[in-house]
Amino acid sequence: MIKDEYCLCHLATGDMLRAAVAAKTPLGVKAKEAMDKGELVSDELVVGIIDEAMKKPSCQKGFILDGFPRTVGQAQMLDEMLEKQGVKIDKVLDFAIDDSILEERITGRWIHPASGRSYHTKFAPPKVPGVDDVTGEPLIQRKDDTAAVLKSRLEAFHKQTEPVIDYYWKKGVVAKLHAEKSPKEVTEEVQKVLS
Ligand code: AMP
Repeated sequence: MIKDEYCLCHLATGDMLRAAVAAKTPLGVKAKEAMDKGELVSDELVVGIIDEAMKKPSCQKGFILDGFPRTVGQAQMLDEMLEKQGVKIDKVLDFAIDDSILEERITGRWIHPASGRSYHTKFAPPKVPGVDDVTGEPLIQRKDDTAAVLKSRLEAFHKQTEPVIDYYWKKGVVAKLHAEKSPKEVTEEVQKVLS
């Protein structure tokens, strides 16, 4: 919704890393082990990907950073990159949610890798199980969308990523959203904070 309404490009480091792993590029080979374990990939690798991706023509009107920055080090490197380009972060959306709600959401999630569309067996099922509504292509379940890997991903989030929220609070750009609500309500909250 944000991408379409504001004509921005959507840069999701997780999607870019998964594509690199699938294509077995040198970057993918380096990232795979950490991703499989639910740990973070090194700051240098992800900052390099973002630096490159932001140069795309589709990003000239602005960009949505999704899943990045995930450490204070990445946030600082991002600031340096943006300063050089004379641009700044307008808003940071904190999709706040209790850990206990996440297991059901994550383990029931199905993805259409090419578009990033996501479904859920219980909350947002596709018309035909395992098939994307729009293209008819197969859906996949992420290898790290298991209860066991989620545990490490949450540990990494609390230890390494939560401080990033404080980093941006100090800059006065954070909007805290109630991500435990329904997709419709969360969408409305997003529209409100961006308008
Ligand atoms: P995501 O799709 O955002 O959940 O990311 C999936 C996995 O990719 C994470 O668990 C990390 O291993 C890796 N990853 C994605 N973005 C980052 C980032 N900004 N910093 C470090 N690792 C990342």
